[in-house]
Amino acid sequence: MTNRNPGKLMAHLRKLGDEVDMNSGNSDVAMKWQFRTTKDNGAATEECPCGKQRIRYLMFIRHKNTRNTTFVGSGCIKMFEERLQNMMKVAHALIVRGVRGTFLGLTDEVEGSPTKLEFKISAHHGLVQNIDDFRECFNPFPVAHLDNKWICQVFPPGRESVYDYIEQLNIEQQYNLKLELSRSDQDDQTGISLYITECEELPN
Ligand SMILES: [Zn+2]
Repeated sequence: MTNRNPGKLMAHLRKLGDEVDMNSGNSDVAMKWQFRTTKDNGAATEECPCGKQRIRYLMFIRHKNTRNTTFVGSGCIKMFEERLQNMMKVAHALIVRGVRGTFLGLTDEVEGSPTKLEFKISAHHGLVQNIDDFRECFNPFPVAHLDNKWICQVFPPGRESVYDYIEQLNIEQQYNLKLELSRSDQDDQTGISLYITECEELPN
C-alpha cells in the first residue's frame, strides 16, 4: 500500500499533539503545526506518515505546544493551513529544483551574525513572491531588497567554512542553488537559515 491515506496522517498528528487535538476537527489539528526544516534524503527511501512510500524530500513540521516533530512528503502539504502550505511549496521547490542566483560575494561581518554568501535572485521566485508569509513567521528571514536587487543570503553545505567554500565560486557568475531551509530558534526570535545542498554553475 503506497497511496496517501489522509486519515492515517491525521491520526499520527493527533498522537503527537495535545489533549485538545484529540477532540478537534482535522483543520484545527493541522493549524497547530509550524514549519521547521526541509531535508533532501538523497534517496527515495522514507515513508510519509500518510502511508505513501518512496519519499525523498522531507518537510519537517513541529507542534506549537508539544514541540513534537514529524515530517510529511510533498503530497501532504495540502493538509495544512494556507500560509504553511505556501511556505512548504516554496521550500519543496528549493530542494527539488532550486533557485537561480548570481554570486555577489560575502555579507558584511556583523557581530553576532555569521558571514554568509550573497546571491542575487529573481523577483519572480517563490522566496520573494511569498516573502510576506515568511516574514510574518520568521525574523530574520535571509531574503531582502537592497539597491534594487533581491538578495538571498545562504550558508555553504554542512559546516563548511564560508571562506573555504568561496574558492569554488566566481563573482557575477550564475548558479543554480538547491537549498534546505532550517528554522533557527534563538532566545526571543525565530529565524530561517538557508543551506546549499547543491550548487551548479550555469552558462552566463
Ligand atoms: Zn503523505
